[in-house]
Amino acid sequence: MASDKTTLSSKWRTQHFINGAWSASESGRAMPVFNPATGETLAEVSLADQADVHKAVTAAANAFDHGPWPRMDALARGRLIGALAAKIRERLEDLAMTDTLNVGKPIRDTRGFDVPCAADLFESYAGLADKISGKCYGTQPDNVTMQFREPMGVIAAIVPWNFPLTNAAIKLAPILACGNTVVLKPSEVAPLSALMLAELAHEVGFPPGVFNVLNGTGAGAGAALVSHPRVEKITFTGRHQTGIQMLEAAKTGMKGVMLELGGKTPSLVFPDAPIENVVNGVITGIFYNLGQVCVAGSRLLVHESQHADLMERIVAKVRGLRQGDPTDPSNHLGCLATPMHGDTVRRFTDVARQQGARCVHQGATAESLNSCFFPPTIFDQVQPGMTIAREEVFGPVLSVMTYRDEADAIAKANDCDFGLMANVWTSDGMRALRVCRQLKAGRIAVNGGGALRANVPVFGYKLSGIGAELGFDEAIHEYTNSKAILYSLSTEKSPWPE
Ligand code: NAD
Repeated sequence: MASDKTTLSSKWRTQHFINGAWSASESGRAMPVFNPATGETLAEVSLADQADVHKAVTAAANAFDHGPWPRMDALARGRLIGALAAKIRERLEDLAMTDTLNVGKPIRDTRGFDVPCAADLFESYAGLADKISGKCYGTQPDNVTMQFREPMGVIAAIVPWNFPLTNAAIKLAPILACGNTVVLKPSEVAPLSALMLAELAHEVGFPPGVFNVLNGTGAGAGAALVSHPRVEKITFTGRHQTGIQMLEAAKTGMKGVMLELGGKTPSLVFPDAPIENVVNGVITGIFYNLGQVCVAGSRLLVHESQHADLMERIVAKVRGLRQGDPTDPSNHLGCLATPMHGDTVRRFTDVARQQGARCVHQGATAESLNSCFFPPTIFDQVQPGMTIAREEVFGPVLSVMTYRDEADAIAKANDCDFGLMANVWTSDGMRALRVCRQLKAGRIAVNGGGALRANVPVFGYKLSGIGAELGFDEAIHEYTNSKAILYSLSTEKSPWPE
């Protein structure tokens, strides 16, 4: 049954979650959390500063050094992570409505993707916990060399607002399965579902200090968290400019760092592709969640001969998208997460016009809707050098470019500072693989098969990141230390310094 909006607020936790308990800020300070669709204040949450960060990291460090989590039977650890997945499914409606109210994301998406995906990730990584193993090297007859993969310690996880619950799950599921403890800082824009998640973890029996949540700004709690000496590794999802600050913070203390950053996904459409599938794929790729997706297909590359036909079909279908109240399940589109982000997206479209791109579609929004309801917008005749073709807009703005031949399509696709994902549309299998091998992107969807999967790594080329998210082998590599034990069976003493 749909979550009741009026009683949901009584279920929201507003303090930090530290050492298995709710904790107000040491300073007593709080910050408001808004509903962008209405402008109303949803809650006042505690605002962390250095003292709260120290408290949370110390709790996580104690849980790691002395608590059961890294030492317990890995199967039992996996069982707790699995129980959390089940709890998320039980509370699907509350979690979905929470993120819908907090970031303006349509309820059909939070119900249909965000929450089920978070549950799937925990369920999947529950099964990884007891399958983490090292290697044995047998090259020397008088030596047995073993490699162990051991939990690292306290991980600082920092996530953005575009998929509040799912982004948290992408970090937490592998971190926890690998036996680490964690301090999560959700985005200051959207902390409510992360707090709900902490409550669910507590209910299923996570030991105190294993999973802590701090509310706070990036410059405040975020910066203090990543520079805390007891943090072993920083795992971050967000803008590449913030990623650079993470690298700076990681220098002191030589912390490990994993960065999942922005993208500017090209969609290469070849004339032999099934056209109606392309239309739906391109529209979903850029307008789902109003383009606030790291892998949003923001650059459409279409062959000169197919350009007019494809544009006509895309624009006709985009006109049918319904935008409005995010809590109404009949709406495809809600609103952008903050008025400030709306201004940023608007600025990008102004610059695109000034630089000569041709706006061929901009949906009309009802007068009753505020400025966060940015409509789907399509720019044609975009040139590779234009700002709209190079920078991440993170909004519902499609840039259309034409290409002459396959080599031109690949060159234009790769002419970009990001390399998170690419889409290829063709029914020619040889061409698909040939093109994929030449694209500079960590994930490539052919004919629409781009869904997030727990066992498939998310890796960014170029400015899109460092390290890989998910992918079981990659997750183990990211969230465990390697320890090699070189055990001599020889009874001889060392030949040096004889
Ligand atoms: P952002 O970089 O502004 O903020 C992300 C998080 O970092 C927030 O929690 C913020 O409080 C924190 N932060 C900011 N400054 C900090 C600092 N100095 N120290 C520590 N923490 C700090 O990003 P955003 O605007 O919230 O999110 C949008 C970005 O996220 C886009 O670029 C998008 O592409 C990217 N993203 C990437 C992926 C991926 O998997 N590659 C997934 C989702 C979003």
